Amino acid sequence: MPELHVYDIAMRTRFRGITRRQGMVWRGAGGWAEWSPFLDYHGDELKPWLAAAREAADDGYPEPVRESVPVNATVPAVGPEQAYAVARDSGCRTAKVKVAEPGQTLADDLARVEAVRDALGVDGRVRVDANGGWDLDQAVAALRELGRFGLEYAEQPVASVEDLARLRRTLLQKGISVPIAADESIRRSGDPERVAELAAADVAVLKVQPLGGVRRCLELAELLGLPVVVSSALETSIGLAAGVALAAALPELPHACGLNTRSLLTDDLVADSLTAVDGAISVRAVEADPDALRRCAADEETVARWETRLAGVPL
Ligand SMILES: [Mg+2]
Repeated sequence: MPELHVYDIAMRTRFRGITRRQGMVWRGAGGWAEWSPFLDYHGDELKPWLAAAREAADDGYPEPVRESVPVNATVPAVGPEQAYAVARDSGCRTAKVKVAEPGQTLADDLARVEAVRDALGVDGRVRVDANGGWDLDQAVAALRELGRFGLEYAEQPVASVEDLARLRRTLLQKGISVPIAADESIRRSGDPERVAELAAADVAVLKVQPLGGVRRCLELAELLGLPVVVSSALETSIGLAAGVALAAALPELPHACGLNTRSLLTDDLVADSLTAVDGAISVRAVEADPDALRRCAADEETVARWETRLAGVPL
Protein backbone atom coordinates (compact mmCIF):
# COMPACT_ATOMS: atom_id res chain seq x y z
CA MET A 1 0.00 0.00 0.00
CA PRO A 2 1.42 3.46 -0.86
CA GLU A 3 1.77 6.16 1.80
CA LEU A 4 -1.53 8.03 2.13
CA HIS A 5 -1.57 11.75 2.88
CA VAL A 6 -4.74 13.36 4.21
CA TYR A 7 -4.98 17.09 3.53
CA ASP A 8 -7.21 19.78 5.03
CA ILE A 9 -7.19 23.16 3.27
CA ALA A 10 -9.37 26.21 3.96
CA MET A 11 -11.48 27.60 1.09
CA ARG A 12 -11.01 31.26 0.22
CA THR A 13 -14.78 31.79 -0.10
CA ARG A 14 -17.62 29.57 1.03
CA PHE A 15 -18.44 27.48 -2.06
CA ARG A 16 -20.94 24.65 -2.52
CA GLY A 17 -21.74 25.17 1.17
CA ILE A 18 -18.26 24.25 2.37
CA THR A 19 -15.46 26.28 3.94
CA ARG A 20 -12.71 23.62 4.04
CA ARG A 21 -11.62 21.04 1.47
CA GLN A 22 -10.31 17.68 2.60
CA GLY A 23 -9.13 14.56 0.86
CA MET A 24 -6.39 12.00 0.41
CA VAL A 25 -3.51 11.84 -2.05
CA TRP A 26 -0.98 9.13 -2.83
CA ARG A 27 1.51 8.21 -5.49
CA GLY A 28 1.45 5.06 -7.58
CA ALA A 29 3.32 3.82 -10.65
CA GLY A 30 1.13 6.02 -12.87
CA GLY A 31 1.59 9.21 -10.87
CA TRP A 32 -0.09 11.19 -8.09
CA ALA A 33 -3.75 10.54 -7.33
CA GLU A 34 -6.36 12.45 -5.33
CA TRP A 35 -9.38 10.91 -3.61
CA SER A 36 -11.57 13.70 -2.25
CA PRO A 37 -15.29 12.85 -2.33
CA PHE A 38 -17.36 15.61 -0.71
CA LEU A 39 -18.58 14.68 2.76
CA ASP A 40 -22.18 14.30 1.55
CA TYR A 41 -21.20 11.35 -0.68
CA HIS A 42 -21.75 7.94 0.91
CA GLY A 43 -21.77 4.20 0.16
CA ASP A 44 -21.80 3.25 -3.52
CA GLU A 45 -21.44 6.92 -4.51
CA LEU A 46 -17.83 6.77 -3.28
CA LYS A 47 -16.87 4.02 -5.73
CA PRO A 48 -16.35 6.12 -8.88
CA TRP A 49 -14.25 8.63 -6.91
CA LEU A 50 -11.97 5.76 -5.86
CA ALA A 51 -11.89 4.30 -9.39
CA ALA A 52 -10.71 7.71 -10.64
CA ALA A 53 -7.93 7.87 -8.02
CA ARG A 54 -6.82 4.32 -8.83
CA GLU A 55 -6.65 5.15 -12.54
CA ALA A 56 -4.37 8.10 -11.78
CA ALA A 57 -2.16 6.15 -9.37
CA ASP A 58 -1.96 2.88 -11.31
CA ASP A 59 -2.33 3.71 -15.01
CA GLY A 60 -1.81 7.45 -15.43
CA TYR A 61 -3.70 9.36 -18.10
CA PRO A 62 -4.33 8.84 -21.84
CA GLU A 63 -2.32 10.75 -24.44
CA PRO A 64 -3.35 14.41 -24.82
CA VAL A 65 -4.42 15.85 -28.18
CA ARG A 66 -3.85 19.49 -27.12
CA GLU A 67 -1.22 21.35 -25.11
CA SER A 68 -3.43 23.74 -23.21
CA VAL A 69 -7.02 23.91 -21.99
CA PRO A 70 -9.06 27.14 -22.01
CA VAL A 71 -10.77 27.69 -18.66
CA ASN A 72 -13.49 29.88 -17.20
CA ALA A 73 -13.38 32.21 -14.24
CA THR A 74 -15.68 31.15 -11.39
CA VAL A 75 -17.77 33.85 -9.75
CA PRO A 76 -19.30 32.79 -6.41
CA ALA A 77 -22.55 34.24 -5.00
CA VAL A 78 -20.89 37.57 -4.16
CA GLY A 79 -22.08 41.14 -4.73
CA PRO A 80 -21.78 42.84 -8.14
CA GLU A 81 -18.61 44.83 -7.36
CA GLN A 82 -16.71 41.74 -6.25
CA ALA A 83 -18.15 39.74 -9.18
CA TYR A 84 -16.93 42.39 -11.62
CA ALA A 85 -13.44 42.32 -10.09
CA VAL A 86 -13.22 38.50 -10.15
CA ALA A 87 -14.18 38.34 -13.84
CA ARG A 88 -11.98 41.27 -14.86
CA ASP A 89 -8.89 40.07 -12.98
CA SER A 90 -9.20 36.43 -14.07
CA GLY A 91 -7.63 36.82 -17.49
CA CYS A 92 -10.37 34.45 -18.76
CA ARG A 93 -12.74 35.16 -21.66
CA THR A 94 -15.45 32.97 -20.10
CA ALA A 95 -16.99 33.28 -16.63
CA LYS A 96 -19.32 30.97 -14.75
CA VAL A 97 -21.58 32.84 -12.37
CA LYS A 98 -23.30 31.17 -9.41
CA VAL A 99 -27.05 31.91 -9.33
CA ALA A 100 -30.06 30.70 -7.32
CA GLU A 101 -28.05 30.81 -4.08
CA PRO A 102 -30.27 30.02 -1.05
CA GLY A 103 -31.25 33.26 0.72
CA GLN A 104 -30.65 35.41 -2.35
CA THR A 105 -33.09 36.75 -4.95
CA LEU A 106 -33.31 36.95 -8.73
CA ALA A 107 -32.38 40.64 -8.37
CA ASP A 108 -29.06 39.53 -6.79
CA ASP A 109 -28.46 37.15 -9.72
CA LEU A 110 -29.28 39.83 -12.30
CA ALA A 111 -26.94 42.35 -10.69
CA ARG A 112 -24.11 39.79 -10.49
CA VAL A 113 -24.52 38.55 -14.08
CA GLU A 114 -24.77 42.10 -15.41
CA ALA A 115 -21.55 43.03 -13.60
CA VAL A 116 -19.74 40.02 -15.08
CA ARG A 117 -21.03 40.82 -18.59
CA ASP A 118 -19.72 44.38 -18.14
CA ALA A 119 -16.35 43.05 -17.00
CA LEU A 120 -15.93 40.66 -19.97
CA GLY A 121 -17.46 42.86 -22.68
CA VAL A 122 -19.72 41.77 -25.52
CA ASP A 123 -17.40 39.08 -26.85
CA GLY A 124 -16.85 37.40 -23.48
CA ARG A 125 -18.86 34.29 -22.64
CA VAL A 126 -21.05 34.24 -19.53
CA ARG A 127 -22.62 31.04 -18.21
CA VAL A 128 -24.66 30.61 -15.04
CA ASP A 129 -24.84 27.67 -12.62
CA ALA A 130 -27.97 27.26 -10.47
CA ASN A 131 -27.01 23.86 -9.02
CA GLY A 132 -30.63 22.77 -9.41
CA GLY A 133 -31.83 25.63 -7.21
CA TRP A 134 -34.89 26.67 -9.24
CA ASP A 135 -38.18 24.92 -9.86
CA LEU A 136 -39.46 24.84 -13.44
CA ASP A 137 -41.43 28.13 -13.29
CA GLN A 138 -38.64 29.96 -11.46
CA ALA A 139 -36.14 28.74 -14.04
CA VAL A 140 -38.23 29.98 -16.98
CA ALA A 141 -38.70 33.39 -15.32
CA ALA A 142 -35.05 33.67 -14.29
CA LEU A 143 -33.62 32.62 -17.66
CA ARG A 144 -35.94 34.99 -19.51
CA GLU A 145 -34.44 37.85 -17.46
CA LEU A 146 -30.85 36.61 -17.33
CA GLY A 147 -30.96 35.77 -21.03
CA ARG A 148 -30.84 39.52 -21.75
CA PHE A 149 -27.16 39.45 -20.88
CA GLY A 150 -26.44 36.78 -23.50
CA LEU A 151 -25.74 33.44 -21.83
CA GLU A 152 -23.44 30.76 -23.22
CA TYR A 153 -25.61 28.28 -21.27
CA ALA A 154 -27.39 27.69 -17.96
CA GLU A 155 -25.97 24.83 -15.91
CA GLN A 156 -28.40 22.58 -14.01
CA PRO A 157 -31.12 25.26 -13.64
CA VAL A 158 -33.52 22.67 -12.19
CA ALA A 159 -32.76 19.57 -10.15
CA SER A 160 -34.25 16.56 -11.98
CA VAL A 161 -33.37 15.36 -15.45
CA GLU A 162 -37.09 15.21 -16.32
CA ASP A 163 -37.51 18.89 -15.39
CA LEU A 164 -34.34 19.71 -17.31
CA ALA A 165 -35.93 18.21 -20.43
CA ARG A 166 -39.24 20.05 -19.77
CA LEU A 167 -37.41 23.33 -19.23
CA ARG A 168 -35.39 22.93 -22.42
CA ARG A 169 -38.60 22.38 -24.45
CA THR A 170 -40.36 25.30 -22.72
CA LEU A 171 -37.49 27.69 -23.43
CA LEU A 172 -37.51 26.67 -27.10
CA GLN A 173 -41.31 27.19 -27.29
CA LYS A 174 -41.04 30.63 -25.67
CA GLY A 175 -38.15 31.70 -27.86
CA ILE A 176 -35.76 32.07 -24.90
CA SER A 177 -32.43 31.15 -26.41
CA VAL A 178 -30.45 29.86 -23.44
CA PRO A 179 -28.80 26.46 -23.98
CA ILE A 180 -28.94 24.01 -21.07
CA ALA A 181 -26.01 22.19 -19.50
CA ALA A 182 -26.42 19.12 -17.30
CA ASP A 183 -24.08 18.72 -14.35
CA GLU A 184 -25.63 17.08 -11.27
CA SER A 185 -28.00 15.16 -13.61
CA ILE A 186 -24.95 13.45 -15.05
CA ARG A 187 -22.73 12.90 -12.06
CA ARG A 188 -25.26 12.11 -9.34
CA SER A 189 -28.26 10.55 -11.04
CA GLY A 190 -26.76 7.07 -11.33
CA ASP A 191 -27.91 7.15 -14.96
CA PRO A 192 -25.95 9.77 -16.90
CA GLU A 193 -27.17 8.51 -20.27
CA ARG A 194 -30.74 9.52 -19.42
CA VAL A 195 -29.72 13.12 -20.20
CA ALA A 196 -29.21 12.09 -23.83
CA GLU A 197 -32.29 9.82 -23.94
CA LEU A 198 -34.56 12.69 -22.84
CA ALA A 199 -32.71 15.32 -24.91
CA ALA A 200 -32.44 17.20 -21.62
CA ALA A 201 -29.31 19.22 -22.37
CA ASP A 202 -27.18 20.89 -25.02
CA VAL A 203 -23.93 20.55 -23.10
CA ALA A 204 -22.60 17.88 -20.72
CA VAL A 205 -20.52 18.87 -17.70
CA LEU A 206 -18.19 16.02 -16.78
CA LYS A 207 -16.21 15.72 -13.55
CA VAL A 208 -13.56 13.04 -13.42
CA GLN A 209 -13.77 11.91 -9.78
CA PRO A 210 -17.55 11.44 -9.41
CA LEU A 211 -17.74 9.79 -12.84
CA GLY A 212 -15.02 7.22 -12.26
CA GLY A 213 -11.95 8.42 -14.13
CA VAL A 214 -10.63 10.00 -17.30
CA ARG A 215 -11.17 6.97 -19.54
CA ARG A 216 -14.71 6.44 -18.24
CA CYS A 217 -15.47 10.12 -19.01
CA LEU A 218 -14.11 9.77 -22.55
CA GLU A 219 -16.48 6.82 -23.08
CA LEU A 220 -19.38 8.74 -21.58
CA ALA A 221 -18.69 11.77 -23.78
CA GLU A 222 -18.93 9.54 -26.84
CA LEU A 223 -22.14 7.90 -25.59
CA LEU A 224 -23.82 11.23 -24.81
CA GLY A 225 -22.87 12.79 -28.12
CA LEU A 226 -22.87 16.28 -26.57
CA PRO A 227 -20.18 18.97 -26.31
CA VAL A 228 -18.35 18.48 -23.02
CA VAL A 229 -17.23 20.98 -20.41
CA VAL A 230 -14.78 19.41 -17.97
CA SER A 231 -15.20 20.74 -14.49
CA SER A 232 -13.34 20.20 -11.23
CA ALA A 233 -14.63 18.94 -7.92
CA LEU A 234 -12.68 21.74 -6.18
CA GLU A 235 -9.59 19.59 -5.90
CA THR A 236 -5.96 20.46 -5.24
CA SER A 237 -3.75 20.56 -8.34
CA ILE A 238 -3.34 16.78 -8.04
CA GLY A 239 -7.05 16.23 -8.66
CA LEU A 240 -7.20 19.09 -11.16
CA ALA A 241 -4.57 17.31 -13.24
CA ALA A 242 -7.10 14.54 -13.91
CA GLY A 243 -9.60 17.08 -15.25
CA VAL A 244 -6.93 18.71 -17.36
CA ALA A 245 -5.98 15.26 -18.70
CA LEU A 246 -9.61 14.62 -19.71
CA ALA A 247 -9.99 18.03 -21.37
CA ALA A 248 -6.68 17.46 -23.14
CA ALA A 249 -7.79 14.08 -24.49
CA LEU A 250 -11.30 14.95 -25.76
CA PRO A 251 -11.51 15.00 -29.56
CA GLU A 252 -13.38 18.36 -29.50
CA LEU A 253 -13.34 21.08 -26.85
CA PRO A 254 -15.66 23.92 -27.94
CA HIS A 255 -16.18 25.49 -24.47
CA ALA A 256 -13.85 26.70 -21.72
CA CYS A 257 -13.53 24.26 -18.85
CA GLY A 258 -14.27 24.73 -15.16
CA LEU A 259 -10.81 23.73 -14.04
CA ASN A 260 -9.40 27.03 -12.83
CA THR A 261 -10.52 26.43 -9.27
CA ARG A 262 -7.15 26.25 -7.53
CA SER A 263 -7.61 29.85 -6.38
CA LEU A 264 -10.74 28.88 -4.42
CA LEU A 265 -8.38 27.07 -2.02
CA THR A 266 -5.95 28.93 0.23
CA ASP A 267 -3.14 26.42 -0.37
CA ASP A 268 -2.09 23.55 -2.65
CA LEU A 269 -0.18 20.28 -2.48
CA VAL A 270 2.20 21.04 -5.36
CA ALA A 271 4.85 23.75 -5.69
CA ASP A 272 3.74 24.74 -9.20
CA SER A 273 -0.09 24.92 -9.19
CA LEU A 274 -2.31 24.18 -12.18
CA THR A 275 -3.63 27.71 -12.55
CA ALA A 276 -4.56 29.55 -15.71
CA VAL A 277 -2.27 31.95 -17.51
CA ASP A 278 -4.13 34.17 -19.99
CA GLY A 279 -7.25 32.04 -19.62
CA ALA A 280 -5.70 28.62 -20.23
CA ILE A 281 -4.02 25.87 -18.20
CA SER A 282 -1.07 24.09 -19.80
CA VAL A 283 -1.28 20.32 -19.92
CA ARG A 284 1.38 18.73 -17.69
CA ALA A 285 1.94 16.18 -14.95
CA VAL A 286 2.11 17.32 -11.32
CA GLU A 287 4.09 16.07 -8.34
CA ALA A 288 3.19 16.64 -4.70
CA ASP A 289 5.63 18.85 -2.82
CA PRO A 290 6.83 17.36 0.53
CA ASP A 291 6.70 20.76 2.26
CA ALA A 292 3.17 21.36 0.99
CA LEU A 293 2.05 17.91 2.15
CA ARG A 294 3.33 18.73 5.66
CA ARG A 295 1.84 22.23 5.65
CA CYS A 296 -1.60 21.01 4.54
CA ALA A 297 -1.66 17.82 6.61
CA ALA A 298 -4.94 17.19 8.43
CA ASP A 299 -5.12 16.72 12.21
CA GLU A 300 -5.23 13.20 13.68
CA GLU A 301 -8.99 13.11 14.02
CA THR A 302 -9.50 14.07 10.36
CA VAL A 303 -6.90 11.53 9.23
CA ALA A 304 -8.72 8.81 11.17
CA ARG A 305 -12.07 9.85 9.67
CA TRP A 306 -10.68 9.65 6.11
CA GLU A 307 -8.99 6.30 6.71
CA THR A 308 -12.31 4.93 7.98
CA ARG A 309 -14.05 6.44 4.96
CA LEU A 310 -11.60 4.85 2.52
CA ALA A 311 -11.84 1.46 4.25
CA GLY A 312 -15.63 1.71 4.03
CA VAL A 313 -15.86 2.13 0.25
CA PRO A 314 -17.95 -0.84 -1.00
CA LEU A 315 -16.00 -3.33 -3.08
MG1 LIG B 1 -22.27 22.83 -11.75
